[in-house]
Amino acid sequence: MSGFRDKMSRWMYGRYGNDQLNRLLMALAIIFLIISIFVKYPVFYWIAVIFLVFAYFRMLSRNTYKRSAENTKYLRITSRLHSIFAKGKKRSRDREHRYFKCPGCGQTVRVPRGRGKIQITCPKCRREFIRKT
Ligand SMILES: [Zn+2]
Repeated sequence: MSGFRDKMSRWMYGRYGNDQLNRLLMALAIIFLIISIFVKYPVFYWIAVIFLVFAYFRMLSRNTYKRSAENTKYLRITSRLHSIFAKGKKRSRDREHRYFKCPGCGQTVRVPRGRGKIQITCPKCRREFIRKT
């Protein structure tokens, strides 16, 4: 006798399954579903349905290559957001330095605080600029 799990795994064979992007889509679907309970506009409900349909479409897709490429893209964006967030946090905690962007190449330059107007030389492109610290 083959159980439900067996049947399920045979049906899922060759399909993409779940990943981080799908978990986000499911979470968004649930959030919009909850909003739709409290808000009388049906648009929230439909947005939830769209997220859910998209998540199921990805889960059952046989084009695993394309789906994992989407997930990789999603992970790259989130890791970039995480690093931007971490950088901002570190800087706001750093009371002894000021951060300036080089007008030449955009490189971030860290200089000690409270030195008045000083000339800064960019370590990357050697451009000099004056900033108040
Ligand atoms: Zn520079």
